[in-house]
This record gives sequence, C-alpha cells and structure tokens, in this order.
Amino acid sequence: MNFQLAPVYLDLQEEAAVVAARVEPMAVEADGMSTLHPGVRQALVDSRLLELLVPKSHGGRFEAVDPLAVAVVREVLMGVSSHADSLFALQGIGSYAISVGGSPEQKAQWLPKVALGESLAALGLTEPVAGSDLKSLTTTLTQDGADTLILNGSKAFISNGGVADFYSVLAKDEEGFTLVLVPADAPGLSWTLTPEIIAPHVLADLTFDNVVLPMSAVLGRRKAGLELVLATLSVFRVSVAGACLGVASAALREASQHAHTREQFGKPLAKHGPVAEMLADSWTELEAARLLTYRAAELAQTNPAGTLHHSSMAKLFASEAAGRIVDRGVQIMGRWGLIRDSKMERLYRQARPMRIYEGASSVLRLSIARELPREMNS
Ligand SMILES: Cc1cc2nc3c(=O)[nH]c(=O)nc-3n(C[C@H](O)[C@H](O)[C@H](O)COP(=O)(O)OP(=O)(O)OC[C@H]3O[C@@H](n4cnc5c(N)ncnc54)[C@H](O)[C@@H]3O)c2cc1C
Repeated sequence: MNFQLAPVYLDLQEEAAVVAARVEPMAVEADGMSTLHPGVRQALVDSRLLELLVPKSHGGRFEAVDPLAVAVVREVLMGVSSHADSLFALQGIGSYAISVGGSPEQKAQWLPKVALGESLAALGLTEPVAGSDLKSLTTTLTQDGADTLILNGSKAFISNGGVADFYSVLAKDEEGFTLVLVPADAPGLSWTLTPEIIAPHVLADLTFDNVVLPMSAVLGRRKAGLELVLATLSVFRVSVAGACLGVASAALREASQHAHTREQFGKPLAKHGPVAEMLADSWTELEAARLLTYRAAELAQTNPAGTLHHSSMAKLFASEAAGRIVDRGVQIMGRWGLIRDSKMERLYRQARPMRIYEGASSVLRLSIARELPREMNS
C-alpha cells in the first residue's frame, strides 16, 4: 500500500501550479464572470494541461484520459480559480463521449482541437424539467429519411454554453436515449445566458429548433446515449472530488493563517480551544477526503464503470467536507470572511454548487446504498 502520489502526478501538480500562478492575478475577475475570460483560456492553452483530457492517439498525453491526473490538476486549479478549473474540466467532460464512442472522423475533427484548447467542449444533459432524473428528459431526436436526424428541445444550466464549439447532447429517440454531436453553429441552435448563480460560472440554456443533423452526428450508436454519459461520469465524477480538495485546502490555509496571526483575549485565535477544534476537524476531514479521492481515482483508472460507487463516495464526502471546511473558515475569519470577493468569501460561494452538480449528494447516497449488497456479498 502506497499513500504517496507517483512522480508523474507530483510533476503534474507542479505543472498545474505554474498555470495557477499565472491565473491567480486574474482570478477575482474571472471567477466573477458568466462568460469566458480570455486570459484564463490563454493560460490553459499555453500550458499543455488540456492534453490530459483526450487520448494520446488524438493529441493527448496519456494512452487514455487518466482520472487521477485530472483530479490532481483540478485540485490545484480550483484552489486558485473556479473559472480555470471549470474550463479545464469541461474540455474532458464535453469530449469524453467522442474519445470513447466517436467515429474516426469525429475524433479526428474535434479531439486534437480540444487538446490544444482551440475548440471548447460542452455536455448537454439537464433540461428545464429534467435534472437528477435524467430519464425524464424531453429533447427529441427524430429520423427524417435515411440520412437525417432532427433535434428539438432545450437544455438548461449547460457549462461552457454559448462559448463551446460543440455540444454532446443527450436526446430521446423512438426507442431510447442517443447522444449526438452538435456543432455550435448548427442552424436552429440558439442560447441565452442562464441566470447568474452565487458563484458565477459560464452557463447557458440551449434551444434546438428543428436542428438538422447528419446520421454521422450520432456518438457511438443509437440508443447508447446513457452508456456514454455513464462512461463520462465514471471518469469525471471523481475529478469533482479533486476540485473540492482544492476549495477545502485553500480555505484551511486561509483560516489557519488568520487564526495564527490574529489575537483576541491576549492570545492567537488558534490557541482558543473551539478555534483549534475547528482547525483540527477541517484538517482531518481534508486528509480523509484526499485519501478517498485518490483511491477512487486510482480505481477508476482500471475499471471506471465498475467503481463508479467509489467515485460517488469520494465526490459525496469531499464536497460535503469542503462545505463544512469553508463554513468553519468563514467563522474563524470573523468579519473578514464576509468581505465580498475576499478569498474566503469566494471559496464559500464556490463550494456550494459542488454538492449539486454531477450528482446531488442525496442522489449519490441512493446510488451508493444500492451498490452495498453487491459489495457485501463479494
Ligand atoms: C454550476 C453548475 C454547472 C452545471 N453544468 C452542467 C452541464 O454542463 N451540463 C448539464 O447537463 N448540467 C449541468 N448542470 C446541472 C446539474 O447537472 C443539475 O443541477 C443536477 O443534475 C441536479 O439537478 P437539478 O438542479 O434539476 O436538481 P433536482 O433534480 O431538482 O434535485 C433537487 C434536490 O432534490 C433532491 N433529490 C432529487 N432527486 C432525489 C432523489 N431521487 N432522492 C433524494 N433526493 C433527491 C436533492 O437534494 C437535490 O439536490 C450544472 C449545474 C450547476 C449548478
């Protein structure tokens, strides 16, 4: 048993730290934007980090997308900027279905550009009504003659919406769910910005009004849409846990620094029992979250679909822990933790959506519990 990251991941942490240092002066501005920050995009483009999100055969760094590599990088980026973290992650989340299910032409057309940051990717699942219950979606895909498909419906809260160059869109056809690749300039596709959320994020709602697609727009095969979505979650859910570690460790660093320098009642805050307890609990939870995340990511390297429950546990635990850690951080910082756009205040807002997207906590608990009998009997 080895609790150390292998050298390749330590190198990646350093590589990501260089990008994070370049992004840091732009972070307050970028993290307040609901549209793309060109400077942050350029910092990612100039780095080679986006190569981690596609396979080697099409411009990537490793044979296949490595969940541990993605989690490790997200931890570093998210500690500095949610905008940078999201831009990085979405390149993989939006393109993974192409990597694993795309045709040779789809792969050749999009993946090298994703790796270079020339094309931005997005994944469209959520709809005005369908959220956690994905199967209730109503966007339709109908066949028109032998060679044409028509897409109608709408998607909501789509990350990279409005700035993406293509969308992997889940729709319902006559017999099942199919994922289709929709170029952003497809006639009939329009978008509006989603109402701004507490921690701004590049989000748009999409409308498909008789969007005509060739049969070759299908990702994988007809009716395999949910399989490809599951494959994407199996690799990327654990990376959200990585991003949560970034939030939690940044919050703990801020809180610790404040608690050791500010004095009240004649001694540093950190020497007061209740504050020391909060710091100790936060550090302990951060360590536990990190171990769970790295282990789940390692399991996902070899058997992503078979270990999705471990990724769900990591995401559940790390996002809930990050929520508690930033909350304690604000408490320890007192009035300074409340100042708009201060580091702690930003982390406080940024931690909250993480318990909702890529599987809300209660929904993850249900799926983990469903897996338990199999684990107990194995
Ligand atoms: C910042 C951000 C980025 C996003 N990016 C994308 C994106 O790129 N692509 C995309 O498709 N979507 C995206 N989403 C949408 C996201 O996937 C959904 O918000 C998420 O799936 C939850 O769906 P919902 O918000 O409709 O909540 P609902 O499904 O309405 O659930 C609300 C709450 O009800 C509870 N709940 C729901 N079902 C159950 C259940 N079965 N058992 C117990 N409790 C339950 C949970 O507590 C849950 O939090 C994004 C959302 C956010 C906030």
